[in-house]
Amino acid sequence: MTDAPPDAEARRAAAPVICYPDDTLPPPDMALYQRAREDMWLVDSVTVPPREARCFRAAAGQVVRIVSTEGPQVGDLNLWSASTLAERFYSGKTRALHGSHVTTGDRLWSCFPYLRPMATLTADTLDWYGIDPHGGAVHDVIGTRCDPYTHRLLSGDAYHHCCHSNLTRALADETGLPLHEVEAHVHDVLNVFMCTGFTPDTQQYFMKASPVRPGDYLEFLSEIDLLGALSACPGGDCGSEHSSDAAACHPLIAEIYQPASGALEGWVSPMPNGYDRSHGAFV
Ligand SMILES: [Zn+2]
Repeated sequence: MTDAPPDAEARRAAAPVICYPDDTLPPPDMALYQRAREDMWLVDSVTVPPREARCFRAAAGQVVRIVSTEGPQVGDLNLWSASTLAERFYSGKTRALHGSHVTTGDRLWSCFPYLRPMATLTADTLDWYGIDPHGGAVHDVIGTRCDPYTHRLLSGDAYHHCCHSNLTRALADETGLPLHEVEAHVHDVLNVFMCTGFTPDTQQYFMKASPVRPGDYLEFLSEIDLLGALSACPGGDCGSEHSSDAAACHPLIAEIYQPASGALEGWVSPMPNGYDRSHGAFV
């Protein structure tokens, strides 16, 4: 190990600075959104079988509710713009802007060059959980998704019902595009209902049994026309292991709601990011 400099403790004592302070983000009109969700009706419902994924679509201004049913189950969520798979959910920037776990009032941001809110979280029945004594919290944007490549690397086996493969099959079915073409559009997820954190001593990513109970839900308003895909993770409640058929798994439901006409008066679907994309090349 390298020798520490004489002022090592002073260097460690430098104050942390929040990279993106909350107060610089334009806030969503949560009062408007809450009024809209008080007067809305169910227009579509997609059941996701255990160890599978299914796609759903929601127009801008519609509300999507991801519901736990039958038993504890984690869901891996991908989002794309309904008009182009090139615009997709950006978990890393969402994490940088809102923190490692998201809840009501946080937004799900799209990738460059779009970088706009794709969705705004409007309800979370697990918001009582907070941060537990292990440092765990619910609905993370830390994890990537369970996938057959990492599984092969670590175990040497082939397992075909990891969330990455489930999402790939679902997107191929929905779009009619070839499996290997759509695979490149599957991306790091929002881990719905998953309870995760980092160990305090080694800062390793951990998971623990999700506190989700049947009837719990995470809900968001679609800020743009969305294509979504939701996988019922083979890890079930992710309290033991994933990437196998060992865990008890349960279905999830994606419900789509239509707010009443005029309920979102004054709201406009956000435009793509205004940066001119010159990157200084023509200055
Ligand atoms: Zn998974």
